Amino acid sequence: MSQKPYRVLLYYHYVTIENPEEFAKEHLQFCKDLGLLGRILVASEGINGTVSGTIEQTDQYMETMKNDPRFADMVFKIDEAEGHAFKKMKVRHRPELVTLRLEDDINPLELTGNYLSPKEFREKIHEENTVLLDARNDYEYDLGHFRGAIRPDIENFRDLPDWVRENKDMLEGKQIITYCTGGIRCEKFSGWLKREGFEDVSQLHGGIVTYGHDPEVQGELWDGQLYVFDERIAVPVNRKEHVVVGRDYYTGEPCERYVNCANPACNKKILCSEENEHKYMRSCSHECRVNPNNRYIPEHGLTEEEVAERLKAIGEDTLQVQ
Ligand SMILES: [Zn+2]
Repeated sequence: MSQKPYRVLLYYHYVTIENPEEFAKEHLQFCKDLGLLGRILVASEGINGTVSGTIEQTDQYMETMKNDPRFADMVFKIDEAEGHAFKKMKVRHRPELVTLRLEDDINPLELTGNYLSPKEFREKIHEENTVLLDARNDYEYDLGHFRGAIRPDIENFRDLPDWVRENKDMLEGKQIITYCTGGIRCEKFSGWLKREGFEDVSQLHGGIVTYGHDPEVQGELWDGQLYVFDERIAVPVNRKEHVVVGRDYYTGEPCERYVNCANPACNKKILCSEENEHKYMRSCSHECRVNPNNRYIPEHGLTEEEVAERLKAIGEDTLQVQ
C-alpha cells in the first residue's frame, strides 16, 4: 500500500507551560510558517492538538516539538490522509485542556486511573465484575463504540460527573474501565472517578486511535466508526470486521453519515442518509424545519410552495407554522 501524501497528527501532553498565552501566540506563528492546519489548545497544564499537513511538514513539527524538553515524551498518533483535515490554523489559550469544570480541578500527573495498553484493555474488558464506560458524548457513541460499553447520556464532557453521580449504582464496587478518542479526557475523568471514591479505575492508554493502530489488536471488539473532531468526521477503527451500529435518525436504518440540523440555534448532530436529509430538510424536528433561520431552505432555493409540499409529504401540517 502506497503512503498517502498528508497526515493528521493527534496528540496531547500534560506538562506545566509557563505563560501559556504567550506560548499560544508563538506556537500559532510556528504552525503557520510550517503550513499546518488544525486546532491546538494550550493551557498552563499542557497542550492538546490535532493538525494536518504534508509528510514533510508534520515531520518537521514533530521533530521541533521533541527537541523541546517539555514535549520530549509527547506521543503523536499519526493517520495518513489524502489532504488537509482542517480549513484554518488555530491555537487557543484555555484555562483547561478538557472541560470538566470541577471546582477543584484534577491534575492527571498526580491522580489518574491505571493505564492499559490496547492488549491489556482487550483482555481486561472480559473480566468479571467489569464495567466498560465510554467517556465521550452521546453522538460519538452513536456512531461507534466498544461492544458492550455503557453510553452516558451526555452532549458535553463537562456533564459527565453529574451523570456518574446519578448512575452510581451501575459503577459502585466494579472494576471500571474508561476510554475516549485519544486518551486525554480519560486522564482527567479516571482521576476524578478515583477522587469520588471508586477504587478500581483503569483507562485505555492512547485512546481508541492507538487501539485501532495496534498491529496485533487491530481494533478488535470496536463496532462502527470513530467520531473525530475534524473534517473527516468518521474514521475506521476495527480492521478485522466492520459492524455498523449507527442508525438513521428518521428511519432507524444502518447509517454512518452525520449532518448538523439546519436550524443554526439547534445544530444537533443527526445520522441520516442523503435521501432523508432532503426529505426532512436536514432538520431534527418540525420546529427546526419551520424555523425562520433554517439554512436548508435558502441553500436549496426552496419556494414557500415547495416547503409546504415537503412538509405535507412527511405528514406535517404547514398550519403548525406560527
Ligand atoms: Zn434541530
